[in-house]
Amino acid sequence: MKVVAIGNQKGGVGKTTTALNLSAALALRGQRVLLIDLDPQANTTSGLGLEVDGDDSVYPALLGEADVRDKIRDSGRERLSVIPAHMDLAGVEIELARSDDHLVRLRHHLQGLKPNDLFDYCILDTPPSLGVLMTSALAAADEIMIPLQCEWFGLEGLAKIVHVIDQIRDSGANPDLLLEGIVMTMFDGRTNLARQVVEEVGNYFPEQLYSTVIPRTIRIGEAPSHSKTIFEHDPQGTGAVAYMALADEFLARHGRPVEVAALP
Ligand code: ADP
Ligand code: MG
Repeated sequence: MKVVAIGNQKGGVGKTTTALNLSAALALRGQRVLLIDLDPQANTTSGLGLEVDGDDSVYPALLGEADVRDKIRDSGRERLSVIPAHMDLAGVEIELARSDDHLVRLRHHLQGLKPNDLFDYCILDTPPSLGVLMTSALAAADEIMIPLQCEWFGLEGLAKIVHVIDQIRDSGANPDLLLEGIVMTMFDGRTNLARQVVEEVGNYFPEQLYSTVIPRTIRIGEAPSHSKTIFEHDPQGTGAVAYMALADEFLARHGRPVEVAALP
């Protein structure tokens, strides 16, 4: 099981949308996926149409009061399991910060899951801050994928998160944390700016930048309000095509090239 955090300390850049739809796409491609919602806003959880109370969430596991395995739920989609979030998670930041091992607790839980071989990928959706939940995710992850909005101020955020990755490595919490990739989101092909930003990121991170770019579409934006992934909401649309292409590029990077080109 590879643990991949979807992270960017900026809000509204497409983390949740990418965590949800990349996970769904990987599951459609035959991968067994565990999606963990670490954001107290619980947008991933509600985006899948799941309703939970605090006890069902990842919260007790983070506090060491429950085994993470007992919190895994069926998402109602084949091969896609979830550990939901709950707004109570906001309180976990304070409680966790008090404990000595807070940074590595999630890591221990997920390391414990690895030998079971239940999943191929564990995707972590993270909150828009650099708090305890985010740093726990980075300590627990093998890799981080950074979604980046096609705006100039997105680039400032990129410099910051790259710095945080270095800090996590240097702290010894996770020396092997890998920058898996950078995916440009909410691309609007009508503006030169969007193209310039993609080009600029490619200049700095030629290896990491995904060639798949996620377009800004109404359908992607409205899917969560129907509790649907883009593959359920608009399976033939450009959004679904883009997220499936992202999954295929992701799998190719992970040495699992996929032959099938057709969408479900
Ligand atoms: P984050 O998790 O980084 O805060 P979200 O994934 O929640 O960001 O996205 C922020 C908002 O933008 C949400 O309302 C989401 O539905 C919308 N959104 C995300 N990606 C797209 C896209 N490609 N096209 C249109 N709307 C999008
Ligand atoms: Mg989010």
